[in-house]
Amino acid sequence: MARLLVVEDEPDIALALRTLLQRQGHEVHHAADGVAGLRAVHSERPELIVLDLGLPQMDGWEVLRRIRDLSDVPVMLLTAAGRDEDKVRGLRAGADDYMTKPFSNNEFIARVAALLRRSGDASYDGTDLVYGDVVLSPARHTVSVAGSPVSVTPQEFRLLAVFLRHQGQLLTQAQLLSLVWEDSSAIGTDRVKFAVLRLRKKLGWEDPECSPLVAVRGMGYRLDAPA
Ligand code: CA
Repeated sequence: MARLLVVEDEPDIALALRTLLQRQGHEVHHAADGVAGLRAVHSERPELIVLDLGLPQMDGWEVLRRIRDLSDVPVMLLTAAGRDEDKVRGLRAGADDYMTKPFSNNEFIARVAALLRRSGDASYDGTDLVYGDVVLSPARHTVSVAGSPVSVTPQEFRLLAVFLRHQGQLLTQAQLLSLVWEDSSAIGTDRVKFAVLRLRKKLGWEDPECSPLVAVRGMGYRLDAPA
């Protein structure tokens, strides 16, 4: 069982989703608008968020953007029928999956289960990510090196979190763009390069000869296991 958050303004759909998820043994919190949803992200620390795009006042896009500024929690987007273009936009904006209303209950349950499986047990629950003397805390949204706080932008934070979660794995420019940047279509790979350079500098890994964050020419980057 997992702790889930449903952000949905239509009471009937919210109730149906809640009932469905509770029947699977999940603990379900509900928010009826985006602001309440963001508040619940902080207070309930859900392990997965089901987010409707059509919300009053702050729409689902803005909610998603703000969630992604501070967390890698899996997000399943819900949207109205006939909005297929939202799918690509949603995945680019950092959503993990996407369903168009109306959808089959069985498919919804299966996709939620798959997302929870993929996200693993500890990786999204706010547990600190530790790499040598570097500590990234998703819960406090802080980075420190040898106990001293390091100031990073939200994008540098996300970039570091991605590297820490995929240690030893080559991440291509395209993967980094889609995982870290909200709109990967509008920017070039230079953006990745400069962000990596800034991150190296902030972490004291400037020397390319001994930086554990390695550039793989023409491919991407890899964070080697700590020495
Ligand atoms: Ca709605």
